[in-house]
Amino acid sequence: MSLFRKSPKSRSDRVILHALSLSVRLVVALTLSACLLNAQDARRADLVLKNGAIYTSNASRSWADAVAIKGGKIIYVGPNTGAQQYVSRTTRVIDLQGKMLLPGFFDSHVHPVSSGRQLNQCVLTNISTVTALLDAVKQCKINLKGKTWLIGSGWELPLFENANPSKELLDQITSEIPVFLEAADGHSAWVNSKALAISGLSKDTKDPERGRIERDKNGEPSGTLREGAINLISRHIPEPTQNDNVEGLRRALKLANSFGITALQDANASVDDLKAYETLEAKGELTVRVVAATQIDPDKAESQIPELIRLRALYNTPHLNASTAKLFVDGVIESHTAFLLEPYLDQPGYRGSANYTPEKLTKLIAALDRANLQVHIHAIGDGAIRMALDGFEAAQISNGRNDARHTIAHLELISPNDLPRFAKLGVIANFQPLWAYADPYITDLTEPVLGPERSRWLYPIGSVIRTGAVVVGGSDWSVSSLNPLEAIQVGITRYGLDDAKRMSWIPDERADLATMIAAYTINGAYLAHRENRTGSIEVGKDADVVVLNANLFTTPVESIHKVKVLLTMLEGKEVFRDSSFPTTQNR
Ligand SMILES: [Zn+2]
Repeated sequence: MSLFRKSPKSRSDRVILHALSLSVRLVVALTLSACLLNAQDARRADLVLKNGAIYTSNASRSWADAVAIKGGKIIYVGPNTGAQQYVSRTTRVIDLQGKMLLPGFFDSHVHPVSSGRQLNQCVLTNISTVTALLDAVKQCKINLKGKTWLIGSGWELPLFENANPSKELLDQITSEIPVFLEAADGHSAWVNSKALAISGLSKDTKDPERGRIERDKNGEPSGTLREGAINLISRHIPEPTQNDNVEGLRRALKLANSFGITALQDANASVDDLKAYETLEAKGELTVRVVAATQIDPDKAESQIPELIRLRALYNTPHLNASTAKLFVDGVIESHTAFLLEPYLDQPGYRGSANYTPEKLTKLIAALDRANLQVHIHAIGDGAIRMALDGFEAAQISNGRNDARHTIAHLELISPNDLPRFAKLGVIANFQPLWAYADPYITDLTEPVLGPERSRWLYPIGSVIRTGAVVVGGSDWSVSSLNPLEAIQVGITRYGLDDAKRMSWIPDERADLATMIAAYTINGAYLAHRENRTGSIEVGKDADVVVLNANLFTTPVESIHKVKVLLTMLEGKEVFRDSSFPTTQNR
């Protein structure tokens, strides 16, 4: 029998072929209908949210009524009518009744682990008189329960003349227990005599290179320490345990989710902090996406890069990337530790000091950039900001432009000549908009030492936006409130949250609501290199969303900070729900 038989076929062959073709057709038909069923299944959502004011934060800033979510992804955004086809018997449907839904918030500069730990210590935030502050410290002493140090934070610098409280005030509360109280901005600490004694500080102790011990008229430490001098005391405090860190992070995540935050940049993560993130990630409890910046010691400079590369590889999980380096270029204006281009008015000839020479900083930035590490710089004074921009420019000239998306945070005083450089260099401007109004930090401790001409350029958010730069927003919590809606409001108004006079401070620097929302959503995602996965409500992206009880665009601007978060979801999973918000409703 030929192996190469051609036509004509025998009758029996034809019967067999006919049967074969029938069964092939049957298989094809079955497969097709299975595919159709699968296709229908694929259209069925786990959750549909409808009748909402859905602000997508996409490129055209468009609105929708409904969103469908399946497997943690957004599978539909559009009118209510189109959402119906995604609803099956198992789909949860929530009627938003006109409430606002928008992408989860990004906090682009925050300190979750240490701030979460502080919630369990002596909390001194939002106290407006010295008497009330001392009463609070007394109460903390009563609640100490056998702890060897009284540790606290959050007191406001303007409560004291020259931001300089004395050890005697604390000695009246206790002379036996050492007291260590960090200022709200983290750049000063206030201690009692016992803490100074334990740490061996006296009039013979020299100021460290990057810090200052405030002194009385006899040259004795007076009880306030600035910047690097804080460490002379804090290194004697028992280290937090890993359990303290994990518990602190848990508290921080809970609070962040309750404010609608689904992603953040940790602005100063220690290796212990990274371990705390990893612990909660392993338990499925890391309910925000984290990009962590590890602090660089100016003395060790480039020698730390191999360790940063090791940490980046080690801490690289679905919600955690240790891909960033944190550099402090200067301090803060209030305590004259910020680095200025021209002298402080009350200290002729003194411009503050930077932690780097321009050459050293440029070399370090270029090396980090070559290692493809994102650089996150703390710079407050116009001198420090210029040094940072010069460093980024030099890195671009030597390495070529890459996709590292470096950022400078705080940006308190920017020389007008430097405003266009953010857009030009692709450096992301990382503002803390909640600081941009005439509070006592500005009126008592900043404007008097800068004068009116320079003060015009304090927090020039509007100017930087107009140059086309990418602007992101961060809280710097626990320096200030973690609630992004408070910062968004002040970014728009430039007056205090409850200021009855409603007088904008430097009104040219106000931003509009849509820009502020972009700063806290899609631009934050861009900073995190995650703009393809999150930061806007678009089909294919992760369902990182927040529901608010009111539409921000129709809320009076001075009431934005009172708007409440009802629901926060990360990848379609509820990470916060207000008890008033329904879990499910009728279809
Ligand atoms: Zn910070």
